[in-house]
Amino acid sequence: MKTSADLRELLNRIDHKGYPAYKDTRGSWQFEGYVLSIDHVQGDPFAAPSKVSVHVPGKLASFPAELFDQKHKRIALQDYLIRQFSRQVQAFTFKAKGSGKSGLLSVSHCGQEILERTACEIDKNGSVCVRMEIGFPANGRTINARELCKILFDFLPGCVKKSLYYRALDAKSVQKNRELAEDQQFIREELSKLKLAAFVANNSILPRESGVSDRPMKNAVPFASPKSLEVTLTLPYHGTLTGMGVPQGITLVVGGGYHGKSTLLKALELGVYNHIAGDGREYVITDNTAMKIRAEDGRSIKQVDISMFINNLPNRKDTTRFCTEDASGSTSQAANVVEAMETGAQLLLIDEDTSATNFMIRDELMQRVVNRESEPITPFIDRVRELFENRKISTILVAGSSGSYFHKADCIIQMDHYLPKDITEFAKKEADAFPLAEEPVSIAKEPSYQRAVRTDGAFRKNDRIKIKTQGKDSVIINRDTIDLRYVEQLTDTEQLGTLGQLMKYAQLRLFDGKRTLGECAEELWKILDAKGIAAICEGSYVPGGFAMPRKQEIYACLNRYRQLKM
Ligand code: ADP
Ligand code: MG
Repeated sequence: MKTSADLRELLNRIDHKGYPAYKDTRGSWQFEGYVLSIDHVQGDPFAAPSKVSVHVPGKLASFPAELFDQKHKRIALQDYLIRQFSRQVQAFTFKAKGSGKSGLLSVSHCGQEILERTACEIDKNGSVCVRMEIGFPANGRTINARELCKILFDFLPGCVKKSLYYRALDAKSVQKNRELAEDQQFIREELSKLKLAAFVANNSILPRESGVSDRPMKNAVPFASPKSLEVTLTLPYHGTLTGMGVPQGITLVVGGGYHGKSTLLKALELGVYNHIAGDGREYVITDNTAMKIRAEDGRSIKQVDISMFINNLPNRKDTTRFCTEDASGSTSQAANVVEAMETGAQLLLIDEDTSATNFMIRDELMQRVVNRESEPITPFIDRVRELFENRKISTILVAGSSGSYFHKADCIIQMDHYLPKDITEFAKKEADAFPLAEEPVSIAKEPSYQRAVRTDGAFRKNDRIKIKTQGKDSVIINRDTIDLRYVEQLTDTEQLGTLGQLMKYAQLRLFDGKRTLGECAEELWKILDAKGIAAICEGSYVPGGFAMPRKQEIYACLNRYRQLKM
């Protein structure tokens, strides 16, 4: 292999030449203790920065196997290393000078959630690979190789040494990181054994600092479970931990405005991910398959069988294969529920504030005035018990204004000054005094998920397919925008990048007129889960900057891709 000395020599040779001469630096270079791989060189100083990866052999990185021998531990260690490496690198960004992006050094930014990312991969031998971007320096469009030498020979080796070798790290803190991952995994596994939909530890901090900061709110009221819902777990490292166990079934969260209902629900939505130490939600753990359900006016719906909720539309549209490019509040929410069922979700999370009222309830007076035959909607309230009894799908529902669900709920929690109270008994008694005027509803058939995705011929293998993302809002494939603003459990922009790659992969290899949308999603997930994100990235190198979505969000993205032809 060529050595760092060779690279230095090459750089001296191409100094002051035109920018394209940088292309010669592509390839692997042996540095002391690691291999520097220049995977992709930018075309000019103003283009997207060059892609570089650092590879430390397992023997030299020497992380003890117990830090990465199971998936959840490996992901936690990778996340830890990205954060360490990023901290080191940040100190040097733009320290080398020049035009355009010259001197930029960047690594994935990790938020409060711990996600698997292409920014760092540890293989079964403990070898560490870290992927980053570097703006190769230039003056105008003339190579400034001396500045790149600074980055590659003066800055980067120190960053690598200080963050990617076990001996350079604080062993205690690495250990703590692993212990948290194991404790979180333990709680996840415990949930189903204890028939819980979610667990919220006492002293958790649920609210965030602000609408634009995911950090914990300072001086927030710490969470404290009502006695009746208290569950005490014995975690492998933390020891005993007490908190609120939300039982499977139907749970209603009520309370006055501003008392913390939505904040609790939001924390549960993100409890499908593990959180870093100090986040306040480290021990808020939700069923992995949970899906937030909301109204989503304007979304497209592709042949979804929403007949369990909607029938006999005045335009005689077939609701067993319902299609629209512009859904209403109720049809969008119905589709969201049915699509969640297709993903195998065992828990639905609903906030009345973001729901379509006519999808959620039908009050008595309305029932009297507008009879059943004239109402296409079977509201969710008439299906919520059936979903649980027949399909084991639990619901946690925040309701501030409607009492109808009191009759249906197994567990009723009142948020009172940010603290939960178990008011099940009292509320049930009150509800008995106000019986629901129930309309007879027959049990729904299993929705049909038979919708094969055709190849639309829109692009073929050799076409250039451009994928862009806009924050957490959308994935853009060529000229088509997939709107993901209301897929609220997407938590990181890098997850959208991966979804974009997945859509392309599916377009080229999976849509064949036979596989159903569900089968495509399952296939994508299988590849991701078994081989990692790298497996679906085309091209000669694996880029950093991609994070793992859940299977649920892969379905959600496919379901919102307007160009799909069924
Ligand atoms: P609701 O949905 O019941 O109307 P929210 O959950 O939206 O109430 O909370 C209202 C406000 O209270 C938000 O600004 C939120 O950040 C804040 N808040 C929520 N929980 C707490 C808490 N435990 N301690 C302090 N403030 C909180
Ligand atoms: Mg609210």
